[in-house]
Amino acid sequence: MERTEWEFSAGGVVYRKNEQGKLEILLIRVKTRWSFPKGNIEKGEPRDQAALREVKEETGVDAEIINYLGEVDYWYSSGLVRIHKFVYYYLMKYAGGDIVPQKEEIDEAKFHPIEEVDNLLSYPTDKKIFERAKKELEKLGEL
Ligand code: ATP
Repeated sequence: MERTEWEFSAGGVVYRKNEQGKLEILLIRVKTRWSFPKGNIEKGEPRDQAALREVKEETGVDAEIINYLGEVDYWYSSGLVRIHKFVYYYLMKYAGGDIVPQKEEIDEAKFHPIEEVDNLLSYPTDKKIFERAKKELEKLGEL
């Protein structure tokens, strides 16, 4: 019998300006797919803390939360279990640290020029969050 479970993750759209003043966005690659760093919210853990912790764990990067961007949800299956997943995203500013991809889960982590990000993202939910992030960056005068 099929059953449904829920999962809750938090993640970050991390930006920084490179030496030329160009905006870059931090993405992670798992196999062929690029997306934003994210991961499971622990019991009792605030969402924003989970987002910062996951960015650090997956990419090695320290960041500072600028704004909440919103939530997305999607479904996937794991064996006979249907999983309804919710992910809460924050806009974050790079605060330091070298990129060190988490060995077990991530194939690569990299800052990409902001103009290239839309083409790299494969999930519609990521594209939606990225649109919101760009709007916020415009408001902040960063874009
Ligand atoms: P987390 O990064 O939150 O710890 P995880 O790596 O266990 O979680 P997901 O990245 O959610 O899990 O991936 C679980 C399944 O959902 C995979 O089959 C993946 O391809 C798919 N998936 C991941 N992100 C999305 C998305 N934004 N939209 C639809 N499907 C997705």
